[in-house]
Amino acid sequence: MRRIQSVKAMTTWSAGLHREGVTIGLVPTMGALHDGHRALIRAARLACDAVAVSIFVNPLQFGPLEDFDRYPRSLPRDLRLCEREGVDAVFVPRAQELYQPAFETAVSVQRLTRRYEGLSRPGHFGGVTTVVTKLLNIVRPERAFFGQKDYQQTVVVERLVADLNLETKIVMRPTVREPDGLALSSRNRFLSPAERKAATVLYQALLAGRELIRAGERSVKKIEAAMTKLIWAEPLARLDYLAVVHPTTLDEVRRVRGRVVLLLAAWIGETRLIDNLVVSVR
Ligand code: AMP
Repeated sequence: MRRIQSVKAMTTWSAGLHREGVTIGLVPTMGALHDGHRALIRAARLACDAVAVSIFVNPLQFGPLEDFDRYPRSLPRDLRLCEREGVDAVFVPRAQELYQPAFETAVSVQRLTRRYEGLSRPGHFGGVTTVVTKLLNIVRPERAFFGQKDYQQTVVVERLVADLNLETKIVMRPTVREPDGLALSSRNRFLSPAERKAATVLYQALLAGRELIRAGERSVKKIEAAMTKLIWAEPLARLDYLAVVHPTTLDEVRRVRGRVVLLLAAWIGETRLIDNLVVSVR
């Protein structure tokens, strides 16, 4: 496994493989790797000849009051996980190189980023879309793998790639969960034991929403009311937003038809968690 730090070395690695007709799958991450990332790596392994994982805690996507300094970092462990998973190259760029002092360009996706995560975390998606564009330009992967866990982010990246005519195919993979349903997240390690228990309320609310829909409920108002009530009943949880949306436009819907996504974010103590569930009706 190659560990690559400079942009130049990364483009050289990628160009060399492309000359030999080798396809590259990229898994962009912020490190602190867990089984969710591992599932993306395995999907990349199956679909592409060579796999690159990028590990970069992108300062641009954290607000001034957010947890950039606290964000978990575990590079030696991450490298071992990548090695075990048969990753070919780990790209660990340095912020000083990606964002040189004269840097002043931003890539922004408009409407899709003005709601949900974008409202709660101003500037967040601008950081995400800018760094993803840079990573795709540097690595030039045939495919890049993203998790459904960050549903809005994946849809935003799909939009970006289509709008800018980038040649990478974006692949969305399902959310990996703990046995009790909590979506794996690098931030779960911030939860105290009591908060960890309380955090299962996110998935429970999503399941309750799905059950209502399966039982025939089509009014989003009623579905949201039932889900909100469940979250409010958990004293350690504070709901940030809850929305029932169209899977690609992310517009809120009033009645459930076809496929919808239940999206939510909640604070559990000082930790902000997000989750979602895709529900289809006939
Ligand atoms: P992060 O390191 O949190 O920026 O995440 C890197 C990638 O892993 C993103 O595409 C996430 O959506 C994805 N990811 C994070 N958690 C999970 C999970 N529990 N299941 C599947 N994918 C995930």
